[in-house]
Amino acid sequence: MQLQLPFFPEHTRYINSTLGLFEKEGYVYYLHNGSPIYCHLKEDRNSYRFIVGNLICNKLCTIFIVIELIKAPKPCIEYVIIHELCHLIHRDHTKAFFELLKTEMPDWERWKKKLEMMI
Ligand SMILES: [Zn+2]
Repeated sequence: MQLQLPFFPEHTRYINSTLGLFEKEGYVYYLHNGSPIYCHLKEDRNSYRFIVGNLICNKLCTIFIVIELIKAPKPCIEYVIIHELCHLIHRDHTKAFFELLKTEMPDWERWKKKLEMMI
């Protein structure tokens, strides 16, 4: 069996050592270790949010989101960090997870909405 080395197209923008994205013909492609993991229309903001959320939850792009968030108000950044810290206790988005999130940040929904409007 031959081991396949990660392959990234020339114009890939790297998020970290295993994750990159590139644009082609109006689409954004996401690669993890050289394999495509997501693709969406460049203008599709909902998909963008969904993917970024997924990458964070799968621990693939914490640094990327922090860079994106620097432009966001402080409570938005806090929301993302608290969200991630709650995942150390509850891995999934279960009822228990949201209960913990609400305990740590009662107005988290407000900042999540604000953040979504910015991205
Ligand atoms: Zn999460």
